[in-house]
Amino acid sequence: IRHLVLVLGDQLNHDSEAFDDFDPETDRVWMAENDEEATHVWCHQTRLVGFFSPMRHFREELIQRGFDVLYHELTGDRRKARESSFASVLRRTLSAHSVEKILVVAPGDYRVREQLKSTAEQEDVPLEFLADNHFYCSPDQFDEWASGRKSMVMEQFYRAMRKEHSILLDEEGAPEGGQWNFDQDNRKTFGKGGPKEVPPTPSFEPDAITREVIAMVRDRFEDHPGKVDRFDLPVCRDQALESLDDFIEHRLPLFGTYQDAMWEGETFLYHSRLSHSINLHLLSPKEVVDAAVKAYKNGDAPLNCVEGFVRQILGWREYVRGVYWNRMPDYEERNALHCDSEQDVPPFFWDGNTDMACVSDAMRLLVDTAYAHHIQRLMVLGLFAQLFGTHPLRFHHWHMAMYADAIDWVSLPNALGMSQYGDGGLMATKPYCATGKYINRMSNHCKNCRYDPAKSTGDDACPFTTLYWDFLDRHKQQFQNNNRMTLQLKNIERKDSSEWTAIRSRARKIRSGAIKLQQ
Ligand code: FAD
Ligand code: SF4
Repeated sequence: IRHLVLVLGDQLNHDSEAFDDFDPETDRVWMAENDEEATHVWCHQTRLVGFFSPMRHFREELIQRGFDVLYHELTGDRRKARESSFASVLRRTLSAHSVEKILVVAPGDYRVREQLKSTAEQEDVPLEFLADNHFYCSPDQFDEWASGRKSMVMEQFYRAMRKEHSILLDEEGAPEGGQWNFDQDNRKTFGKGGPKEVPPTPSFEPDAITREVIAMVRDRFEDHPGKVDRFDLPVCRDQALESLDDFIEHRLPLFGTYQDAMWEGETFLYHSRLSHSINLHLLSPKEVVDAAVKAYKNGDAPLNCVEGFVRQILGWREYVRGVYWNRMPDYEERNALHCDSEQDVPPFFWDGNTDMACVSDAMRLLVDTAYAHHIQRLMVLGLFAQLFGTHPLRFHHWHMAMYADAIDWVSLPNALGMSQYGDGGLMATKPYCATGKYINRMSNHCKNCRYDPAKSTGDDACPFTTLYWDFLDRHKQQFQNNNRMTLQLKNIERKDSSEWTAIRSRARKIRSGAIKLQQ
């Protein structure tokens, strides 16, 4: 074999540079399902199917295009399987074939990159990493932008990207509509009446390949969390494109407006549910952004919604990837709030069995579909984990386990950095901490909850509110020089000592499990 072209599970794009120089006479594609990726964090069953089924579909498409594919499939019977870590499967291939060179697009996971390097080195086969043309911004370009900056503010990065790629700019190069962001238009709640019939996201009935994968996952990973009965994610490019078209036509026009809103029993609201397809490279971020901008130009979606959406992809998504490669491997070790390394997420983060209505609703969606939307991730589950004192790396590992779209480069900065403030302010200039009143304002959850969001003490005190005050109290020294925290810290003085005693005691009991928060 002249070139063994590795295609990893999140590199399913046919226009990948890995195929540029592919010669079917002398080259082979190599793909592997392996236990290690499925178990190094405890994976949700939908997440597993969400990787393996698109991989198998991609294999079929490559074969139809005339590629010769060496593919390692997992079977349902764990006992019959030979050792199947990524490195061991690759090693077996390298000893069975004479390979002149391994080619692979740069992986999105630092650990996988290092593993590949050491396996190739041990087997004495040259390895070449190819640049990933899927993204707008390369890690080198991001490093250049970041070098010499005191802080890496996303907004500045986003504006630079808008200018560089001429996106939503007028003829003079100024931002379309005269401003760079429309956040003030994008914080609407659903009001008392709730959302009016939200157009549903497309749902793809599992085909024969997906059904086979579901059966395999049920057998082999039966003890893993989450359910797979409702699996309906796109598993190939055609389905991903259908999802994109559907979003642009039906939900983009209200995406920005209700970006931060939540509602009991709803599922995807106006969110795109495209992260899984984009992260697997079934869709390119560029075509997604272009489709949204086209909808604006055609008058099919308003600027606040289109700009809000473009910001997520061209801004946040590219930015977190830049932060990841700029800061790894040290980033993983960051623990700015000095959380106990043993402190894991609470038990109900695996099955959703809690009497907190907001957490229970976000967990229902997560357990059933391996999805929660951004504000549930940040201001319900992430917020609770932070106030609870979860170690940021453990929170990231939990996130990697439970979400279909989680890949190390995107989960780590979001989970450890933005959500848990583990990086001490690199991603977010202040921690995302709030009482239950925030959730009450953005949703109808509190109406159906046994707790009261305004109370911090007593049996019916909202656990978010109790833990919020305790969090501020525990970290007040650390935040005293942070201007953006001044107002929040000032309120500490309004509480008397007996209230503080009650708050601290209740917070301790919540953390120790003496107060169960379960049904
Ligand atoms: P929409 O709300 O429709 O947004 C559109 C797209 O913008 C998304 O599909 C996604 O590609 C992109 N996007 C938006 N925000 C971000 C962001 N902060 N970082 C990167 N991309 C973004 N996103 C992941 O793709 N994988 C993760 O593992 C992940 N972990 C997260 C962990 C936490 C704690 C938080 C707060 C956010 C995380 N995000 C992650 C970002 C974001 O929440 C999801 O991308 C989004 O909820 C996916 O749903 P959607 O496709 O409906 O997104
Ligand atoms: Fe969540 Fe507290 Fe509101 Fe209950 S009262 S839904 S726990 S924020």
